[in-house]
Amino acid sequence: PCVPAVAQKKAKATAGATTTAAPIEQRITALLAQMTLEEKVGQLNQYSGRQLTGPASDRKTTLLNSIREGTVGSVLNVKGVQGTREVQGVAMQSRLKIPLLFGLDVIHGYKTVFPIPLAEAASWDLVAIRQSAHLAAREAASAGIHWTFAPMVDIARDPRWGRVMEGAGEDPYLGSQIARARVLGFQGDKLGGTDAVLACAKHFAAYGAAIAGRDYNAVELNDQQLWEVYLPPFKAALDAGAATFMNSFNTLNGVPATGNRHLQRDILKDKWDFQGFVVSDWGSVTEQVQWGYAKDNADAAAKALNAGSDMDMEGDAYNGHLAKLVKEGKVEMALVDDAVRRVLRKKFELGLFDNPYKFSDEKREKQVMSDPWSRVAARQMAEKSMVLLKNEQSVLPLQRQLGKIALIGPLVKAKRDLDGSWSVDSDTTLTVSLFEGFARKAGSKTQLLYAKGCDVTGDSRAGFAQAVETAKNAEVIVLAVGETWDMSGEAKSRTDIHLPGVQEELFQALKATGKPIVVVVMAGRPLIFNAIADGADAILYGWWPGSEGGNALANVLYGDYNPAGKLPMTFPRAVGQIPISYNQQYHTGRPVKKPGDIRYKSAYIDEENTPRYAFGHGLSYTTFKYADLKISRPQMTLADNVQVQFTLTNAGKVAGEEVVQLYVHDLVASTVRPLQELKDFRKVLLKPGESKIITFTISKDQLAFYNQKLEWAAEPGGFNLMIGSAANDIRLGSTLELLP
Ligand code: BGC
Repeated sequence: PCVPAVAQKKAKATAGATTTAAPIEQRITALLAQMTLEEKVGQLNQYSGRQLTGPASDRKTTLLNSIREGTVGSVLNVKGVQGTREVQGVAMQSRLKIPLLFGLDVIHGYKTVFPIPLAEAASWDLVAIRQSAHLAAREAASAGIHWTFAPMVDIARDPRWGRVMEGAGEDPYLGSQIARARVLGFQGDKLGGTDAVLACAKHFAAYGAAIAGRDYNAVELNDQQLWEVYLPPFKAALDAGAATFMNSFNTLNGVPATGNRHLQRDILKDKWDFQGFVVSDWGSVTEQVQWGYAKDNADAAAKALNAGSDMDMEGDAYNGHLAKLVKEGKVEMALVDDAVRRVLRKKFELGLFDNPYKFSDEKREKQVMSDPWSRVAARQMAEKSMVLLKNEQSVLPLQRQLGKIALIGPLVKAKRDLDGSWSVDSDTTLTVSLFEGFARKAGSKTQLLYAKGCDVTGDSRAGFAQAVETAKNAEVIVLAVGETWDMSGEAKSRTDIHLPGVQEELFQALKATGKPIVVVVMAGRPLIFNAIADGADAILYGWWPGSEGGNALANVLYGDYNPAGKLPMTFPRAVGQIPISYNQQYHTGRPVKKPGDIRYKSAYIDEENTPRYAFGHGLSYTTFKYADLKISRPQMTLADNVQVQFTLTNAGKVAGEEVVQLYVHDLVASTVRPLQELKDFRKVLLKPGESKIITFTISKDQLAFYNQKLEWAAEPGGFNLMIGSAANDIRLGSTLELLP
């Protein structure tokens, strides 16, 4: 629309476009036939382009020249209509005028910051998650972006790993559902519209299993675990149409993911028939040298391309070596052609050959950015993602008629921290703090008192006295603690995941006032806070809630929104319990002579052996009753299925949503099965007193697993079916027998 007429005309004249009407594969073939080897390799190079829109520099000149020569396929980190249009204009000066792809990490919103992905996962609300991704895509696309490096679908069971904030938590089933929702949200039903960006399922594969939760670490994993736990969300993303995959920094059983032919060719491209392309992670092609897997960058380029890595992100290895490697016969031309075809396919599907400037509309950019629709959705998503961990004294929801509330803690007035890490275009003037949220919500009769108390990190207790004095004047204390935005995320592994600094001591000082105390935790990972868990009257886990965080927190705390979030990751009591997840093989213990004897039972002697908060846990301001379980038949065969039905009732006084969870346990199998595996869930809204009948269908899909031969099969025998409100709060159970 806003494209200069000349540019439009030139775009139409793009070589290889043959006729616009020709099918894409035919147009690619025609284009490939015109490309030199250098131009082909060019399509496989991606560079960070931050300098492209900045002041003159050597890097800028070199990059611009390369783009003009047609030896760059994609740039990341250039955003905004003006910048992307300028740079695309340079690509249009190249011989074949192949449009660039503009990539960016749009992880949880663009201008409007949505809650971090782990928080969104706690909503278990697939419609809302899809919408959040769609709105992020809409804003990003209106800023010239074609491609997001999301969703991150790495299953993670180690909260020391900072990147848990980017994913959907520990469970392969929930993770798969969310992977699908996010891909559909980013890409829409079909690529080619101006609201859809290419999605990228990352990091392929098993990055979340980095040993000891240390980022960029090696991964050792058996095949069953790989297939059952780590691969399902990738398969779900692929089935939802994910256009691209990103490989990963980690090794898998000694082979770097980037040079891993088994992962990228055997599984992804052959077995799964993936038609999109694989981009490396930042510099992960040359990183094979640092791993000691390639002897130099040329060797690294050959290993990566041969293994199925199509595009080299910021590694310069393909650019420097691939053409020569082809000439020397170390890389087959056919493999390069295949990689180029894959990249071009996505450019065609986006419609960039027909109009390289189709994402260039300044008017739309202004209109869409942070529009009311996105703001409302971000607030609702934040509300849905919050988890009420505890509410023993029913101190929540807060009473409207309170005279004085003490808002205490380092995160009461924070803004940047609410946006969390990976907020790529956030503008904190758009972020609503907890204090501002309360100021808008609290009635004119309520006075808000404030004291910071301490910082998130550091050991100064100098602010405690004032915080305590402030608290003494109030009827209720709301304490906001957690992590600063830069404490979780990439390269943010921690050995200690206790609430940082002296924040828990501040809690204890406030607790001594005897006032009711509500704790709000905002963080990018599960944290440990045992004193708060034991002593607080109520705890709301707000994660990093994004631009609308303060409004959402106030709505939840005042009961205008009844919390319904459920934990997508287990919260441990002690760091020593990590890695921890509900879905584990289980040893019932040998028969013991004395009660309480834990010999021959897998357990720790110095800590309770349960998690602090279980997977699936989350309270509401109402209560739900589960009753009348019926199973259509107690036996089934592989060919049929059974229905499990029960009645869910809202037994409280306010409307609320419950996430009902179905878990399965295969009692005896040819490999030891986890005690519980999530196989289905529903999020159900009920008015006070209302009941609904919920039905789950069980077929072999819910009973199968990867056996010793790595075949996915269900084995005859007994199964426990468990229905409940959390992994450790099973309300109804039944047995089922699978007949041979
Ligand atoms: C991260 C990726 C990210 C890329 C581009 C890497 O360091 O691991 O997740 O997409 O940078 O920013």
